[in-house]
Amino acid sequence: MRVSQLYNPTLREVPAEAEVISHQLMLRAGLIRRATAGVYTYLPLGLRTIRKIEDIVREEMEAKGGQEVLLPIIQPAELWRETGRWDVYGPELFRLNDRHNREFCLGPTHEEIVTDLVRGELRSYKQLPLLLYQIQNKYRDERRPRFGLMRGREFIMKDLYSFDRDEKGLAESYDKMYDAYSRIFTRCGLKFRPVEADAGAIGGTGGTHEFMVLAESGEAAVVYCQDCDYAANNEQAVCSPRPVESEEPEGPYRSVDTPGTKTIEQVVEFLGVEKEQLIKSLLYQGDDKLFLVLVRGDREVNEIKINNAVGPFINLQLASDDVVKEKLGCDPGFVGPIGVPKDLTIIADQEVPLMKKAVCGANDLDKHYIDVVPEKDFRIDEVLDIRIVEKGEACPQCGTPLEEARGIEVGQVFKLGTKYSESLKATFLDENGVEKPCVMGCYGLGIGRTMAAAIEQNHDKDGIIWPMSIAPYHVILVPVNMKDEQIREAGEKLYNELKSLGVEVVIDDRNERPGVKFKDADLVGYPLRINIGSKTLANGEVELRDRRTGEVQLVKVNEAAKQVQEIIQKSLD
Ligand code: ATP
Ligand code: MG
Repeated sequence: MRVSQLYNPTLREVPAEAEVISHQLMLRAGLIRRATAGVYTYLPLGLRTIRKIEDIVREEMEAKGGQEVLLPIIQPAELWRETGRWDVYGPELFRLNDRHNREFCLGPTHEEIVTDLVRGELRSYKQLPLLLYQIQNKYRDERRPRFGLMRGREFIMKDLYSFDRDEKGLAESYDKMYDAYSRIFTRCGLKFRPVEADAGAIGGTGGTHEFMVLAESGEAAVVYCQDCDYAANNEQAVCSPRPVESEEPEGPYRSVDTPGTKTIEQVVEFLGVEKEQLIKSLLYQGDDKLFLVLVRGDREVNEIKINNAVGPFINLQLASDDVVKEKLGCDPGFVGPIGVPKDLTIIADQEVPLMKKAVCGANDLDKHYIDVVPEKDFRIDEVLDIRIVEKGEACPQCGTPLEEARGIEVGQVFKLGTKYSESLKATFLDENGVEKPCVMGCYGLGIGRTMAAAIEQNHDKDGIIWPMSIAPYHVILVPVNMKDEQIREAGEKLYNELKSLGVEVVIDDRNERPGVKFKDADLVGYPLRINIGSKTLANGEVELRDRRTGEVQLVKVNEAAKQVQEIIQKSLD
């Protein structure tokens, strides 16, 4: 490819709309352009990297027995009604009607469609296991599309669905995919970690792992142990209660004036107590159900755990000020568990019943109760693990203090069980002729997000540093002066040699200053660059520069092609 002909509009300035580095660099390097919020066009170089990631994914899926299909994007509402997800999926589902007013959605995921496919035709246990996958656009009307390809509304995903005869078969399929994912992300040059995760909207009960690329810009928080293999999304991580030392109360609980103290910090300051002596009381609304949630003042509520324990709800949120006022007669800042209406369920985190002497809101403006004893002075209906884990807490497997990191979720593997095969009646006959539901798994991997994650982990101040395996091209030739005949000819000759060796090569044949060409080459991130100038050519040599290390070596011009081919081959092995 010739840069003079390549549609590769690069930008010198950092685009204002791009917050994270991968988004900035993809725009600047001319890999993508935004069409509308969360929807992007892939330009030639961007698409080449996308295709390379897809090829790696394909190879690893096929190696595990996956068979590629292409399922439709437009899906009929009836199927989603059969599984009950039409009503619970919520506003993330892009819904549309046809001219006859029939309802459809744009597929955010394909459990319904793929299960519908096999239920019609799958008959016997002899056909199992069956692993079907596709690489295709997904549609999700994300609440906050952002960070470029990281969180789009239209994005490319690989999704595989496994059908097995029993749990043992599912465990084998799951292990195969877990292994394939590890190989894929390793081949893409990523540092990643599989973590235990939450099953979310897809459901299922059998367990799930997310593959996290560790990066500052990650939207997910993960905790991990340095001494054993425990690692979990902090939405999921199990918390052990840690009681705090405290004295017994001096007398029965009583009300004190705490004017203007709406936040935990203000109460702590006003009363001269520690955060961990406070009970944080929050009125939650899950769809149309209200309940009171209690955690210690130094802890954060984990809404995912609440939703799993008490829900699932389509919409779980803090009750509005008006609802709090109506139900409890006060501002949210003064809510507490004492004397609340009998029909209001009180859910407390495990640490709350362990508190000996607590402070809580008095359901009255500018008042708190002190010397409160949980379960003596107020009831608790359910004690649950509903808080977010914190760095330094004991690892649930070995007790070592946990570390914390940010992660980008690039893939997730799920044991679905029979949730979809039962609701859609995807069954098979076992060797005794007994009809059984298929035991299913699903396995998603974000292609664009993987590309973004690779940039987050591989860049410097000058631009992208592509891992060889997913670079749009492996090498760029830069004749420093196209008007110099000797240089131009040497460039063209080397270009043809490299091409005939099957090397993916670009030649920057523009009439630009060398500085401009070098800047663009570094920005786009070609792993190797060959500079062709008259000084070195006089000795029959060219400069070979490694993008990652910046190291330059002189190589004989007539050996350069072979040498480059070897370097590329070595780094792809
Ligand atoms: P998240 O929690 O980040 O919203 P998810 O759990 O909804 O992701 P899955 O349903 O597990 O995602 O989808 C499988 C993979 O698809 C994810 O691991 C991720 O790589 C990718 N993915 C999901 N949502 C998006 C999106 N909006 N834009 C780009 N990639 C996405
Ligand atoms: Mg997920």
